[in-house]
Amino acid sequence: MKIEHIGIAVKHLAKSNSLFELLLGQAPYKIEVVDSEKVSTSFFQTGDTKIELLEATDKDSPIAKFIEKRGEGIHHIAFEVADIYSAMQEMKEKGFQLLGDAPRKGADNKLVCFIHPKSANGVLVELCQTIEP
Ligand code: ZN
Repeated sequence: MKIEHIGIAVKHLAKSNSLFELLLGQAPYKIEVVDSEKVSTSFFQTGDTKIELLEATDKDSPIAKFIEKRGEGIHHIAFEVADIYSAMQEMKEKGFQLLGDAPRKGADNKLVCFIHPKSANGVLVELCQTIEP
């Protein structure tokens, strides 16, 4: 599986956009609010991969809880899959604990599903499939 992007939890998206623009030498190509996940996101293209910054839009957001517990930093690693339904089935059969039974609509035109960090060495793993336009 290819790493599609790395998600980073931040407190202030606008500030972090400036910081990562300075770091990467380019502006984010997309800024998107995902209401269902209670996050604002921005995406930077880094070669074949992307960096996703995530800011909570609500105190109940998973990102708010993550920052409360662990501070800002790397939040998840996302792997690209061709078919998220079969990938979810396969991961279940391999013994990984999935967060949710069905994929959800994520940022950047993706169907996404997460693997519980407890079953992946403390790493929150995202599986994502690009939705064909
Ligand atoms: Zn992601």
